[in-house]
Amino acid sequence: MRFDLVVVGLGAMGSATLAHAAARGARTLGIEQFSRAHELGASAGRTRIIRKAYFEDPAYVPLLRRAYDLWFRLERDGAEHVIDLVGVLMVGAAHSAAIAGALLSAREHDLQLEALDAPAMVRRFPGVTPRAGEVGLLEGDAGVVFPEAGIAAHLRVAEAAGAQTAFGVAVTAYDAQRDGVRLTLADGTIVSAGAVALCAGPWLARLAGELELPLRIQRNVQVWFQPSVPNFSRGRFPAFFLDREGFERPLYGFPDFGEGVKAALHGYGADTEPAQLDRAIAAGDIEPVRRALEGWMPGAAARFAFAKACMYALTPDEHFIVDRHPHDPRIVIAGGFSGHGYKFAPVIGEIVAGLALAGGTPHPIGFLRLTRERLVRPA
Ligand SMILES: Cc1cc2nc3c(=O)[nH]c(=O)nc-3n(C[C@H](O)[C@H](O)[C@H](O)COP(=O)(O)OP(=O)(O)OC[C@H]3O[C@@H](n4cnc5c(N)ncnc54)[C@H](O)[C@@H]3O)c2cc1C
Repeated sequence: MRFDLVVVGLGAMGSATLAHAAARGARTLGIEQFSRAHELGASAGRTRIIRKAYFEDPAYVPLLRRAYDLWFRLERDGAEHVIDLVGVLMVGAAHSAAIAGALLSAREHDLQLEALDAPAMVRRFPGVTPRAGEVGLLEGDAGVVFPEAGIAAHLRVAEAAGAQTAFGVAVTAYDAQRDGVRLTLADGTIVSAGAVALCAGPWLARLAGELELPLRIQRNVQVWFQPSVPNFSRGRFPAFFLDREGFERPLYGFPDFGEGVKAALHGYGADTEPAQLDRAIAAGDIEPVRRALEGWMPGAAARFAFAKACMYALTPDEHFIVDRHPHDPRIVIAGGFSGHGYKFAPVIGEIVAGLALAGGTPHPIGFLRLTRERLVRPA
């Protein structure tokens, strides 16, 4: 059978693309090398932060507004709890990248943030220990999205709209032909499609080898702790991002949803190859997170519970790549989500489906193009 669109990789972005393509009435197939909503890619670990006052760049805010709408629509249609607006507290010095950047996005896009000085932060969230000079910005309608649930929901919505899925088989090659794109699968099957979306996460650079994408894959460990105090449970405490002077990398974390307080250092870890990712957890993975968390929320990291290694796929400028293939517009690339992409999954799915099936998108994604200066290797 020939498909209108084949989506390669059914993680965060691929599952969302499949759902949006199927909703357009396209004959769609999704191919995933592992199992449904597996824990081996970039989307494992139960929780991801979602926020609109985007310190990384105000250009993301219009995409975030659409992502919020689509997350709520998915919660309604996908029969999964995918979003929980518990609030997000950004903390740092006034001039820190997180605080200054969040304020810039809020100003440019008229977003509501509540400024808290150190005493106000402690009154509002008893148990935190801000340092002199640190300020807090509370974004009340920010919070948490649930990655495995989001992928499961997107797949369910896609299949209900007629999409086909294949799990446990990898795409090993694709080649553009006059009348479509031909894909070769690891089991020897050949599939042909009018268009292809490459949503292969940490494996993208290898799959699209001809593009020589400058993606760096970083091992990143998320750690869960059992707290010894009740202050940090969901309902009492928000998700947080702490850009503290003296930290090697910012610390972020989540209230206790029942499995403990989860925390990690953003962008901290050794480079790896996806196939060689060391999933074994060592003391050196836990200690820097525990120390940083205990310094900010004493009692939160009383007892180590468990930890999970995950992967960031980093571009040089840490902005995403969402574009058509420079040699063939029937091939769409979505990758390099640089450790901050999950919250965007439904809007990326909508964009990729539009690029692949309608040749364009109304969303403002010029800043994510493949040919931007920071991505092009010098000749
Ligand atoms: C520890 C950690 C914390 C994070 N925290 C946040 C956060 O708080 N907020 C946020 O917004 N983002 C966060 N992120 C980033 C976010 O999770 C990622 O940007 C996002 O999950 C990337 O999705 P993806 O679809 O590109 O990759 P994935 O979800 O990994 O999907 C890629 C899929 O492609 C499949 N695949 C690859 N190659 C092939 C092939 N050849 N054939 C078939 N299938 C293939 C893979 O098996 C995989 O399922 C975090 C990431 C990590 C690791």
